Amino acid sequence: MAVEKVLLAKPRGFCAGVEMAIKALSWMVRVFEPPVYCYHEIVHNKIVVERFTNAGVIFVDDPSQVPEGSPIMLSAHGSSPKTVDDARRISSISINAVCPLVTKVHHEVKTRASRGFEIIYIGHHGHDEALGTMAVAPDAVHLIETLEELEALPKISKPIALLAQTTLAVDEWQAIAIRAKELYPELWMPGKSDLCFATTNRQGALKQLAPIADVTIVIGSPNSSNTLALEKAARRTSDSMVYRVNSYDELPDNITGTVAITAGASAPEELTREIISFLSPTQGFDEVEVVHEQEYFPPPRELREFIKSLAYVSSFAFGEGVPATLPLDDDPEHGASEVIFNLASATTN
Ligand code: SF4
Repeated sequence: MAVEKVLLAKPRGFCAGVEMAIKALSWMVRVFEPPVYCYHEIVHNKIVVERFTNAGVIFVDDPSQVPEGSPIMLSAHGSSPKTVDDARRISSISINAVCPLVTKVHHEVKTRASRGFEIIYIGHHGHDEALGTMAVAPDAVHLIETLEELEALPKISKPIALLAQTTLAVDEWQAIAIRAKELYPELWMPGKSDLCFATTNRQGALKQLAPIADVTIVIGSPNSSNTLALEKAARRTSDSMVYRVNSYDELPDNITGTVAITAGASAPEELTREIISFLSPTQGFDEVEVVHEQEYFPPPRELREFIKSLAYVSSFAFGEGVPATLPLDDDPEHGASEVIFNLASATTN
């Protein structure tokens, strides 16, 4: 291997929604006796899922698999209204870790459908986020993934809205949005596209680095939509060799020259560090910050209330009165990559 330089895209890796969901599940693991149940993979990343599985989380694809009364968390991708109701019926400890940006799209679907719109929804067939969003108004939503599917839609006479999965590649969304506007000039679209800031920022950063690199590495799992969007963005904007990997051991050992690295929104930072070590660049690495990202999403409301009640109960039980600080007060100071790293050491000790 003769790698000279590594260019690290910034931002990369965990987004605010993933940070929130991972930290919320780690609280569940700490507070409750295992098993804790999680509906769908908390985020689409193999290592994150494995670490939580080792810590006592059971991932299920149907809330009916959860024994009555057991603590349950719903994933960041968003769940159908029925799943949310089922989870609440099964357990009084039901925490919905849906990303607020996905909730915004659910709200758009609900509002437009109630006003008589048909909705063209650009998303990936079978993806958890798309399934949860479509279930908000199944009779009103047409899922399309490609221009061909847009052209093949039956004639729609009602007012039409165009909405999208948050994690699409900007370019693929844009091409479909432009054509949809030509086909349906009265088309309603949200003032700002549904694509989330994290998706757009990570793709924007990578598009600057990939063209000046000999090789581009995108870290993330193949079922992570935003990771695949990064891979597509790299291939579209550069001639560099592009590898999408879960971890360093999937890389060939003959990489040379300058290497650009990014990570999908569900990939922990330790994977990036392992890949840099594996590449051992002779001139080290530079982190290239293209956009400064500061978004922070607080833990789910139900979890905040639950932890707060526990803190009050234990403080009063020990005769200490109203607690001066609450366990989640310092949440913004702790990153989810740290949580995932610590989970590994906790379960191997
Ligand atoms: S990628 Fe965007 S929409 Fe998805 S969890 Fe992260 S912030 Fe939320």
